[in-house]
Amino acid sequence: MDILKVTDVDVSYGAIHALKNVNITVKENSITTILGSNGGGKSTLLKSISRLLPLNNGSIEFEDKDITKLSPEKVTQMGIIHVPEGRQIFGDITVYENLMIGAFTVKKGMVSLENIHQDAMTPRIKKLIETNKTSEEEVLLTRKEIIHNNLMRVYDYFPVLKERKDQVAMSLSGGEQQMLAIGRALMGTPKLLILDEPSLGLAPLIVKNIFNILKQLRNDGITILIVEQNALQTLKIADYAYVIRIGDIIKQGKASDMINDPELLEAYLGK
Ligand code: ATP
Repeated sequence: MDILKVTDVDVSYGAIHALKNVNITVKENSITTILGSNGGGKSTLLKSISRLLPLNNGSIEFEDKDITKLSPEKVTQMGIIHVPEGRQIFGDITVYENLMIGAFTVKKGMVSLENIHQDAMTPRIKKLIETNKTSEEEVLLTRKEIIHNNLMRVYDYFPVLKERKDQVAMSLSGGEQQMLAIGRALMGTPKLLILDEPSLGLAPLIVKNIFNILKQLRNDGITILIVEQNALQTLKIADYAYVIRIGDIIKQGKASDMINDPELLEAYLGK
């Protein structure tokens, strides 16, 4: 199933025509990537999806609902969570406080049993599961329970954030700050996690580590849309890829095919 459909999306900044009738789809439970060199329109496309930019034309559907006219807050609540380029974490508050900011849109809701962390299993939740008659798959948790569950899961993905939870965020390394930015997004229970250049400025080993976590997130049911200049490494973890150049999608296909396409790598991605 397609979780996201972007149809004929057209965006300008004054006289600069940044996106020209762009069409992309993102399959549920995939890692989909948008590749391309500087200024191609990658960030603009992501901002259009999370509704940070007005469209000249076109529509955006998420889980079969038209979100074209919705606010960024509303689409965040629906489960589209954007980690912007440059991370934008708050340096002078703690790691824990940054994570809690990511939870601000969380409301009570159904959580599938497989997504409940052992350390978040309170006696109340255990009892709920035992007496669960309506569904065997999920239970209704309070906002507080969901936030605690999300926090336990974030600490599992990124143990360093647990170790450093009381440190101010500016004391983290670049890689740890990127982990914090992703962890903060996970606190909002994303269905579609949007990442803008998460590898920017990071050492190759750290990028590998973060990309491994992205694969794990996809395996745990989160759909990922990622913009990257680091084409080769991204194609290795992605399922499907688009290449954008000066506002046009010029190529698309399975990531596994693209990685073996020397013409593409050379002509468009500078490899
Ligand atoms: P990069 O990797 O350098 O961020 P990108 O592929 O993400 O590149 P965009 O940032 O989406 O590209 O930019 C697409 C085009 O729109 C470029 O020509 C850029 O200069 C222009 N642009 C982006 N943001 C603005 C803005 N706020 N005002 C005016 N022009 C902009």
